[in-house]
Amino acid sequence: MSQSTPHLEEVGLLDLTDGVPTQALRVRAEVHLDACDRCREALADFLRVRAPSPPDVHAARTPARRRRTG
Ligand SMILES: [Zn+2]
Repeated sequence: MSQSTPHLEEVGLLDLTDGVPTQALRVRAEVHLDACDRCREALADFLRVRAPSPPDVHAARTPARRRRTG
C-alpha cells in the first residue's frame, strides 16, 4: 500500500499536452497527478514548452478539483 501509481512517462505527458490522450491515460494521469507533485510540475513544464502563452497553465498548477461525472 506504500506504492502509488507509477510515474507518468514522457510519451504520456506528450499525449496529454497534445490533447489526444487515451481514456486510460487521462484517468491514470488524473489519479497520479493528484498525488505526485513531480509529474504535475513536469506536465506544467511540458505545457509551457508546447504553448508559448497557454491559458491553461493555471489549471495545470492548481490542484485538480474537477467535477466527476457520474
Ligand atoms: Zn509521478
